[in-house]
Order: sequence, then C-alpha cells, then structure tokens
Amino acid sequence: MYNDFQKHLQTTLQEIKDAGLYKNERVIITPQSSAIKVEGGVDVINFCANNYLGLADNPELIQAAKERMDSRGYGMASVRFICGTQDTHKQLEKAVSDFFGTEDTILYAACFDANGGLFEPLLTEQDAIISDALNHASIIDGVRLCKAVRYRYKNGDMADLEQQLIAAQAQRFRIIATDGVFSMDGNVCPLDKIYELAQKYNALVMVDESHSAGVVGKTGHGVTELYNMRGKVEIITGTLGKAFGGSVGGFTTGRKEIIDLLRQRSRPYLFSNSIPPMIAAAGLKTFELLTRDNTLQDRLHANTDYFVTRMKAAGFDIKPTQSAICAVMLYDARLSQEFAAALQQEGIYVTGFYYPVVPQGQARIRVQLSAAHTTEQLDKGIAAFIKVAKALNVL
Ligand SMILES: *Cc1c(COP(=O)(O)O)cnc(C)c1O
Repeated sequence: MYNDFQKHLQTTLQEIKDAGLYKNERVIITPQSSAIKVEGGVDVINFCANNYLGLADNPELIQAAKERMDSRGYGMASVRFICGTQDTHKQLEKAVSDFFGTEDTILYAACFDANGGLFEPLLTEQDAIISDALNHASIIDGVRLCKAVRYRYKNGDMADLEQQLIAAQAQRFRIIATDGVFSMDGNVCPLDKIYELAQKYNALVMVDESHSAGVVGKTGHGVTELYNMRGKVEIITGTLGKAFGGSVGGFTTGRKEIIDLLRQRSRPYLFSNSIPPMIAAAGLKTFELLTRDNTLQDRLHANTDYFVTRMKAAGFDIKPTQSAICAVMLYDARLSQEFAAALQQEGIYVTGFYYPVVPQGQARIRVQLSAAHTTEQLDKGIAAFIKVAKALNVL
C-alpha cells in the first residue's frame, strides 16, 4: 500500500518545490533574541520573530519558570478538569482578565486551540459568524468546525461588513470575528466601527489579539486600548507565544458565561493537556512586568517609529502600519527571495513572503520590530536594506 501513497506524496512534494513554495527551516543555535547565531556559526540581527517585547530570553521569566519547575514539577499529565489545574493556572487566568479588563479567562495549549475550540460550543446552525477575509488560519478552522452559517467580509471593509450583517439578520445570534492586527500588512482592525455596527445589527464581537496584545496601544493592552474600548468586546483570544514571552499557550478571555461554557464544552480544552506550571508562572511574570512600568512598550513603539520613518525616508514602499509589523513592498516573488537572501549575507535575518501567503503580485519582506532591538541594530538593518535595494535596482 505505501508504495503508491509514497509516489503520490513524492509527486506532491516535488510540485511544491517546483512552484518554489517548499519551506526550508533555518536553524538557530542561540536563544531567540534580536541578535542570534544560526547554524554554521553566522551572527545575524533578527527582524522576523514575534518577540515584540524581547521577552523570549528575559532573565526574570526564565527565573520564574525555573523556580516553578522546582516547586511544582515538570508537567501536569492531565487535562484541566480531571487533575490538571494548579493555583498557578488560576492565577494566570486572573492576570489575563485583569490585563484586558474582562470577566474571566480560559487557558489553552495555544491560541490555535483557543480559536479552534471557540465557536462550536457557542453557536449552532441557527446562528451566524461574520469573519474578516484575512483572519488567521486558526479562526478559519474554528469557523469550519462550527455549524453556524458563515459570512465573510473584505478585510477591514465596513460597508461590506454591514451588508453581511444585514444578510445575517436571518440567523438567531451573530458573532463578528476579526484579527486585532493583520499579520501580513500590520494594519489594525477598525474595532470602533466594527463595534458600532455590532450594536446596530445586534451582534457580538470577537477579536484575536495575538499580534496586537503587548504591542498596540500606549501601554500595549491591544486594540481595545487603542480604541478606548476596554471591557467592551465580548470575546478576546490571544497567545503567550508572541509579545507575552514567546513560549506557548493561548487564552480566550471575556464574558463569564462564555468562558464558563467553553470550560464545559470546548474540545481542545477538554481533551488536551494542561500547560506546564513553569509556562503558567512565566506567563504570570510577563503580566507583572507589563503592568509594573511601560519601559518595554515604550521602547517597542520608539523602535518601530524609528525604523519605519527612516525606511520611508530612504524611499521604500511601506504598507501603512499601526503595529510592530513593517511590510516592505517588492511586489515580485523572485525579487523578494533574492532580497531576503542578500540581506542574510549582510547579517540581517528576514523572510520574503509571496503568493499564496500574500495576494499574487504583492510580494514583500515583512520586518518585525522588537523592544530588544538596539538603535545600532536598527541602523544596521536600515543600511543593509538600502545597500541591497540599490544593488537590486529597487531604489
Ligand atoms: C500566531 C497567531 C495565532 C496562533 O497562536 P499560537 O499560540 O502560536 O497557536 C492565532 N491567531 C493569530 C491572529 C495569530 O497571529
């Protein structure tokens, strides 16, 4: 049996390679940070991690994790409702609720699970989900697992959202689902207008703060801070794998009855292992750090302004951004790969994105800024971009 299937797989893999879409993983041999070493011993400045606040190698988080591993062990060997809940898990859930100004929080192994297990327990075929066309894959999968009627609106397009909401009046309950920050452009969802339409057409709002929490808003409390809407949206999902430490773990936070029902019915919560105590402890430390002072958030915002301003002044075509994502538009797929490879020769670590990750003819290099970047590292990055752009006739 395997012979035929093996040939089929080999053909498929070759097709991916022929299309230039085969993903090779680059190996890092240091902690994740703004300066890293990759296999072969090459030093590079990292501009493509989700390590927005530079916490991935933070000594206080490491210490908190070590201490909790010593005092509470390595793993829970259980799902939450059988015997997988320690006080640390409850404390972390409380810390997430306090951070977002919500009523209650449920932890998951990842935000992919939070989104995957969100809709199915809450909605039936009588209900509707109205989803932004550029939402993350995990929202799309979560929607697929739910029997609710599906509507889709063009990215951030409020006229289209209104049309879909009008159509969705045919259903009993409606949830509008959106990313807080869309990861390919760095644009923020128009949450104030979404909320207004939700009020007008009697819908709930769900926002995934994975790329916005810790980043957007003066104190990094996400898009609900940016739009001065703390505590207003019914459902927020997010990850501990990006700004909040860069490890693993996800959460859904919001109205207490919603969270309560998810604890009873959400399948990735009921049938998947509890996060380890050390991860919960480091998560708790993250929220303590972010509410202690605004140093990291301020540095991230200053670094982003510094980089984007200078790149624009140099003549680069940058997508409008309100996050720590800076999309340097090159349009041509091959050029984006050549550009990224040339930058790596200059010691700058970035990734070129092209179709199908972004629309056809919209190839780009996505730069992600971090509070961990020094001004010297930013200057080196900008200088390398300019040098490569001139060599490749982009500038
Ligand atoms: C990264 C991301 C996720 C997945 O988060 P994990 O915790 O890594 O599973 C979900 N939604 C959005 C919008 C993301 O950017």
